[in-house]
Amino acid sequence: MNYDVVILGGGPAGLTAAIYASRARLRTLLVEKTFPGGQLMMCAHVENYPGYLGGPGMELSEVMRQQAEKFGTESKIAEVARVDLLGAEKAIYTTENEVIFSKAVILCLGARPRRLGVPGEQEFLGKGISYCAVCDGALFKDKILVVVGGGDTAVEDAVFLTRYASRVHLIHRRNKLRAQRIIQERAFANPSIEIHWNTVVKEIVGTDNVDHVTIENVQTGLPAKLPVDGVFILIGNEPNTKMLEGQIELDEAGYIITDENMQTNVPGVFAAGDVRRKALRQIVTACADGAIAATAAEKYIESLS
Ligand code: NAP
Repeated sequence: MNYDVVILGGGPAGLTAAIYASRARLRTLLVEKTFPGGQLMMCAHVENYPGYLGGPGMELSEVMRQQAEKFGTESKIAEVARVDLLGAEKAIYTTENEVIFSKAVILCLGARPRRLGVPGEQEFLGKGISYCAVCDGALFKDKILVVVGGGDTAVEDAVFLTRYASRVHLIHRRNKLRAQRIIQERAFANPSIEIHWNTVVKEIVGTDNVDHVTIENVQTGLPAKLPVDGVFILIGNEPNTKMLEGQIELDEAGYIITDENMQTNVPGVFAAGDVRRKALRQIVTACADGAIAATAAEKYIESLS
């Protein structure tokens, strides 16, 4: 299989890169592990993407997918086992032992939920512990939940989870939330949310399912036991860049370093979206990255002839 551009990852960055690349009449393949959408699929309600008044992330990503397809993007559901990006011809090896060749690659690999690293986290995964409120929230009707984190995801999803849960304990390690002010205000105004400031989760405990969490106030050192039915760990993300080590320049946290044209240190390899080192990770910035990366890839391919 030979392509002009192969895009790895089908979140907003990948889908936008696909729209731009296929519209530029490049033979474009989008490779996605499960289904297109990326982290956008986990957003219950998107309201800050310009031109979209508000709705589920799934809806927005489906429109992007259809748009890419309309312009001729081919797509493939496959897991990438390894990549060989250093030569003029880029090679993508799937776990099914297929090899895909292309002139340019756009890495839109996104990021995965960060683990908390406390006892019980591994043991109760799927038995009360979740990293996705949209996926699992409805399982906790009239239950008591813990949400860990203080960023946009944790605070926004704490509010979302009150649609189902009778009480949501938001556990944050500092005395100030990182989330945007408008999101914070909604949490403060919600009577079903109780915020535990300067507090960390030490252990998640249960028998078959989660039964309680042990928390500790980091200022006083005082421990407490919080009976809960579920724990949502929403403490940020880590980039999916393990397989790029040794080929593509990464920063100390593993994010891909690019220039303003989304060019990595390797000619013909571009990166876009949350996988890239950048200041603002939003749908709109992921899309912007994708458009820039595809345009830069087009220029790169032109320069080859
Ligand atoms: P984030 O912004 O990195 O926030 C992570 C939160 O988890 C922080 O409050 C952090 O605490 C806390 N945390 C990190 N490690 C922890 C640990 N080991 N133990 C306890 N707490 C820990 O991640 P995010 O909220 O998932 O957001 C990711 C990106 O998506 C951000 O750029 C965000 O703006 C964006 N996003 C935007 C929207 C929106 O615009 N509506 C919605 C969701 C996400 P500290 O504050 O103390 O560091």
